[in-house]
Amino acid sequence: MSKIKMLNPIVEMDGDEMTRIMWKMVKEKLIAPYVDLKVEYYDLGIKHRDDTDDQVTIDAAHATMKHRVAVKCATITPEAERVKEYGLKQQWKSPNGTIRAMLDGTVFRGPIMVKNIKPAVRSWKKPIVIGRHAYGDVYRDAEMAVPGPGTVELIYTPADGDQVKRMVVHQFKEPGVIMGMHNLNSSITSFARACFTCALERKIDMIFSCKDTISKIYHGRFRLVFRDVFEREYKEAFEKAGITYTFTLIDDAVARIMKSEGGMLWACRNYDGDVMSDMVASAFGSLALMTSDLISPHGYFEYEAAHGTVQRHYYQHLKGEKTSTNSTALIYAWTGGLSKRGQLDGTKALDEFATKLEAATVETIESGKMTKDLVALAEPKPERPLYTEEFIDAVASTLEKKL
Ligand code: NAP
Ligand code: MG
Repeated sequence: MSKIKMLNPIVEMDGDEMTRIMWKMVKEKLIAPYVDLKVEYYDLGIKHRDDTDDQVTIDAAHATMKHRVAVKCATITPEAERVKEYGLKQQWKSPNGTIRAMLDGTVFRGPIMVKNIKPAVRSWKKPIVIGRHAYGDVYRDAEMAVPGPGTVELIYTPADGDQVKRMVVHQFKEPGVIMGMHNLNSSITSFARACFTCALERKIDMIFSCKDTISKIYHGRFRLVFRDVFEREYKEAFEKAGITYTFTLIDDAVARIMKSEGGMLWACRNYDGDVMSDMVASAFGSLALMTSDLISPHGYFEYEAAHGTVQRHYYQHLKGEKTSTNSTALIYAWTGGLSKRGQLDGTKALDEFATKLEAATVETIESGKMTKDLVALAEPKPERPLYTEEFIDAVASTLEKKL
């Protein structure tokens, strides 16, 4: 069989530790034999980021703007311990943070569902994808302890010298605490566009929720921006795709989603998304069955696994011990990228290959061949967990039968 041709390259961002090892196996065993891979490779491994003073991360983001599709392995975000471990020049920033800011993107987390692992919420039959706004609110606030009686005010001083606006927040009669937070129309607009784009991509209904009955101006702004962007830019496309957009209060959204069968995109404000994405992820089973797609309103797409570099397993591996680390989400990072490349270029064969590789991965797990992390969750239990490479080989042999 001749290999599938790619018209344009995808940007490949390599990473760290156990995921770097699996990344290479996935590429060599599951993709390269079938696809005539065109990639622009960037080594985001911690050593190379340090050697290049993190320029490689910036270059990789620029390359993503050029080629529009990227796949990324998990990377270390260094703290003090990592600086010592790898002899780094400094605590480099999170590559994901840098890339997200440059692409103006939103991260969407979605579960990969298999029949032999049931979600903790019994009614959930389809994936629930969460989009979390990643700018502002409580994550960039100003906070103050109020030591005793006194007045706290909001003061806005216009840059053009217009009249100052002020407003009393509270007249304290005793000690307390105070917080100021902000958001930007531009950021909310980008977030809304990324969410609508993602819902269209996946052809699923979308819900946006906040609490604008209580916070009429702040939360109200989010609701209005979403409404305006939808009406102006996405309404027709949603109708054509047969999907809906619903705004609802956050408490109502929680109640609805718990009773639903899933299959929607839930757009969350920063804090809601932080909390809800962890709840939804753990209800679906395992981090290793969770993908993370970065979608930019400017038409850039980056795919990765939601989990980190699986450091503990890597140390086992370095000691020469066998590991049982799950490569499913990494495989899906690759299929996400290949499928998007295929769609953008009109290379149907590439898109179809990605779909078959996803199906092969799911079928392999459903046939009882899985890594240790899933064994505890699966029903029925398999006889024994597969080692890291054994699982990838098992997927390869399922895939062979499909091609
Ligand atoms: P982690 O890599 O997600 O792993 C935490 C634990 O979850 C593992 O020890 C393992 O549990 C389990 N696990 C995660 N992925 C698994 C997989 N594919 N197969 C089997 N088990 C899996 O988080 P971490 O250990 O806290 O972080 C390690 C490094 O990753 C850090 O340096 C952090 O900066 C980085 N990180 C990167 C990203 C990213 O690039 N997107 C995201 C998060 C963290 P057991 O040990 O119980 O088996
Ligand atoms: Mg969280």
